[in-house]
Amino acid sequence: MKTNVLYKNANQHKNQHQRLKELIAHHQEQEADELSAFLSIKRNSALTESASFRKADLLNTIIITPVDYRCNLNCDYCFNSPGHKAFSKNKAIMSEQMLSKIIWQAMSISNNLVFVWHGGEPLLAGIDFYEKALKLQKKYASTYSRIRNVVQTNATLLTEKWINFFKKNNFEIGISLDGPKKIHDSHRKYPSQKGSFNNVMRAIKRLNLNNKSFGVISVINKNNFCSPEEFLDFFVKNNLHNLSVNPDLYVTNSSVEYYADFVCQLFDLWLDSGIDELKINLLDSLIKAFLGYRNDICWLNGNCHKIIRVDQEGSIWPCCDRYLPYKEYNFGNIEQNSLKYVLTGRKYQKFKNNFGTLPKRCSECKWNHICRGGCTYHRLINGGGKDGGDHFCQAYQQILNYVSTKYNHLLHQQN
Ligand code: SF4
Ligand code: SF4
Ligand code: SF4
Repeated sequence: MKTNVLYKNANQHKNQHQRLKELIAHHQEQEADELSAFLSIKRNSALTESASFRKADLLNTIIITPVDYRCNLNCDYCFNSPGHKAFSKNKAIMSEQMLSKIIWQAMSISNNLVFVWHGGEPLLAGIDFYEKALKLQKKYASTYSRIRNVVQTNATLLTEKWINFFKKNNFEIGISLDGPKKIHDSHRKYPSQKGSFNNVMRAIKRLNLNNKSFGVISVINKNNFCSPEEFLDFFVKNNLHNLSVNPDLYVTNSSVEYYADFVCQLFDLWLDSGIDELKINLLDSLIKAFLGYRNDICWLNGNCHKIIRVDQEGSIWPCCDRYLPYKEYNFGNIEQNSLKYVLTGRKYQKFKNNFGTLPKRCSECKWNHICRGGCTYHRLINGGGKDGGDHFCQAYQQILNYVSTKYNHLLHQQN
């Protein structure tokens, strides 16, 4: 086993210690840079701008689903696939009029905005659609607008033309890839049952040839039949260094334990790897959270209520398409009410307050300053609001205990 690329260093204990120190130094440097950039923006805005710069801090991410839940794949764990209740046969693409309304309204309440283009498969909307979106963003931008575009795709439609477009327009790309072929293809299939792995890897090759960076999102479930070593080794061997590991929501409870064990083992492998550029989003964010820094994960940074989703018909929801069966979380439609009206309205405030109040077990939990009660959706499926904790609570506790014990131990080791 030690012959694989993950174990290029011999003295694991020493390396883990060094690696953690390097990571901390890296985060400290990054935090200092971000802080000084932030302070300089503040200074300039205070000097040059009126209160309009400080638009209501209501929204930082808007997820748009231009073809809604339509997809060219039929993954077995997908909420949008024909096997699931929410599957939609709607073939429409969001109209330009709707797109314009969404972009205008979002940009009128936030100067600092991430547009996430999601699905189903968002590339089914075609390049023309995104060209229009960019034009509209430009049209409605003020001098102080800061915009990021992120697309989350299954990558099977990612041609050279798309890559050039995304590269030219600075889109960030997230690709779904569950690991080696046998694992990926066992879940992520075309309706014909053919696996999508080869097409995804072809797109990844194209991205690398075009020097376009991207991240990978993997769903971990107990039917993966793959050890954490084999899993991480696959990504490292393929130079895939920016990785998110999400739990699968459609398997039985025991996957909570499986997910926790898997992530804890990944933590050691990550530290042992000796590969500086290897980033596992959850683990990286936990280290940042231990250091008291901001991080990228919504439930660790308490930003859930600033993330909304607008679907192809203009309905406004919390972030995730999995809310679809819960009609009480449809906050309205952009055709009838402005985003600002919805986000400051009673229904949305109730949602925000409900999930902002931690369940008893979370308020008594030693990890609540980091975990913050977990993901809002995972709380909903566990009974909701004030009573239900996150479905993956047990996994978070195990991961947080493991990572923090190791973190403290390594941190206090003498050089
Ligand atoms: S690619 Fe995404 S949206 Fe499409 S079936 Fe798979 S999980 Fe669902
Ligand atoms: S670990 Fe569990 S109990 Fe603790 S804050 Fe998170 S969800 Fe709540
Ligand atoms: S529902 Fe969960 S995944 Fe979605 S924004 Fe909120 S915390 Fe994040």
